[in-house]
Amino acid sequence: MTKSSATPLPTVVVKNGMHKAIAQGHPWVYRTQIETIRDLPDAGEINKQGDPDGMAATAASAATATMVAQPARALVVDVVDFRGRSLGRGLYNSASMIAVRILATTSETVDEHLIRERLTAAIALRQRFARPDTDSYRLVFAEADRLPGLIVDQFATTLVVQVLSMGMETFLHTITETLLALVKPDRLILQHEEAIRVKEGLPLYRKIVFGDDCDRTVITENGLKLVVDLANGQKTGYFLDQKANHAFLRQFSAGQRVLDCFTYIGGFALNALAGGAREVTAVDVSAAAIELTRENARLNGLEDRLQTVTANAFDFLRDEVRAGHHYDVIVLDPPAFAKSHAAKAAAIRGYKEINLSALRLLESGGILATHSCSYHMSESIFLETILEAARDAKKRVRILDIRRQDFDHPVLGGYPESHYLKSIWLQIV
Ligand code: SAH
Repeated sequence: MTKSSATPLPTVVVKNGMHKAIAQGHPWVYRTQIETIRDLPDAGEINKQGDPDGMAATAASAATATMVAQPARALVVDVVDFRGRSLGRGLYNSASMIAVRILATTSETVDEHLIRERLTAAIALRQRFARPDTDSYRLVFAEADRLPGLIVDQFATTLVVQVLSMGMETFLHTITETLLALVKPDRLILQHEEAIRVKEGLPLYRKIVFGDDCDRTVITENGLKLVVDLANGQKTGYFLDQKANHAFLRQFSAGQRVLDCFTYIGGFALNALAGGAREVTAVDVSAAAIELTRENARLNGLEDRLQTVTANAFDFLRDEVRAGHHYDVIVLDPPAFAKSHAAKAAAIRGYKEINLSALRLLESGGILATHSCSYHMSESIFLETILEAARDAKKRVRILDIRRQDFDHPVLGGYPESHYLKSIWLQIV
């Protein structure tokens, strides 16, 4: 894919007035923002450009899975504003609403060497901040690591890879080879079952690239052992973004009655127990998640002080308020209620309801750790919603801390979508 300077790359011209966010570092060009594309080869030409990364093989395996839209591979393009000023170099996919994902400047060559460099830098960042009591990290966080659409999670000696853009699929072979060489895992799994792949024109499948197939693995987080379900779990298997917040909870836990709503496999609940909580109640609507929470508690010898409840947390919280129960510390960590901008109003009502109930269950001195993992709920709107709930609950609160996702999910300047997890810690005055 290396281009001599004599051959200009196809050039995407962004409409007048739509270049500003991109100029400030936003790495996406939507199809609707494109004025014109110059020097775009036709589909036949694209496929004659050689097969630098074994894409033919990928396309062949893709064909056996589900349908693949055109083109079979992303194209390297230059992006310029309406005056012809460079905005960067990226990968173009005509099948996606996000037509170009920028990952380089025009002085860089977008090829397998660049991908290898980016992977090396991403892994080095995690190694630099790795904690001795934790063996699992997000090694690559897509756009924030300038590998747009690529997620790589390390669960102990297993790597779970999700390619969510045509651009990264083009380099799939380089990505897996580089990861195997740099990390030397026992197992590498392609978890390609996220529906978002269909929007990119990519097939859905799960494939073991290296090592044996295995449904579950045991990771170490904050010194705790956790069984992670690799085959049937949510997302890549576990939410690594909450590690530091899990640890933060410990300092509030000694001797306390703790409620962990939306526990998944027990992340907050087990850290509260490890921090000396008197008793912990963990709630999740998924029976499979609660089963894993119980197993994880046993694995760490923490089951004595743990109660689990399989229930809708909205109903559970309402019932607890009605029953007049109280807790000292409550964690709320629901799934993203606002998956789109349009869903925001309903999401705000949802966040308000559970936070209102939680605040009612806390007495003076009590702690609420409340989360939103929806990008569409900005930090300020989320905080405003929580403070409104506090007013309705007639509680005065002090804000102890406002946190976010752990360091291995970095936030890229100019790309606000990469700051998605809000973590607000309050104390009832
Ligand atoms: N707190 C977890 C991550 C939570 S992910 C951690 O720190 O690792 C969100 C969880 O909410 C999932 O386990 C999902 O099963 C659960 N969930 C979704 N809707 C729910 C509802 N209405 N009531 C209770 N749990 C729900």
